[in-house]
Amino acid sequence: MKISHQFVELIPETLDQRVVYISIKYRTASHLCMCGCGNKVVTPIRPERWQLSYDGQSVSLFPSIGNWGLPCQSHYWIEKDTVKWSYKMSDSEIRRVKARQAQRVHDYYDTKELKHRFKWLKKQH
Ligand SMILES: [Zn+2]
Repeated sequence: MKISHQFVELIPETLDQRVVYISIKYRTASHLCMCGCGNKVVTPIRPERWQLSYDGQSVSLFPSIGNWGLPCQSHYWIEKDTVKWSYKMSDSEIRRVKARQAQRVHDYYDTKELKHRFKWLKKQH
């Protein structure tokens, strides 16, 4: 499914279907769930969350977007302004993916915390 993207300063209140809004300033992207259910999906752009790539023409988001908090439970990839539907995951698979995501966030903050402590230690000497 072909979609489009829009670079904005601030994510607008009302979103259009099949458009990914990207705010570099606020490091976030948002779109209406691609299944058409109308729910807003927010994908923060952070090292431990989603990575956005822009080739000058189209955008991609990594990793995939799994809306397991929504009734539709849709799961898809946004790759070069195209939605690629993923298969419907089983509950145990969803649990695994969620655990992996939590681990990534955890690892990220762990390293940051360590770096911070290291800096602090260096300052003391
Ligand atoms: Zn949906």
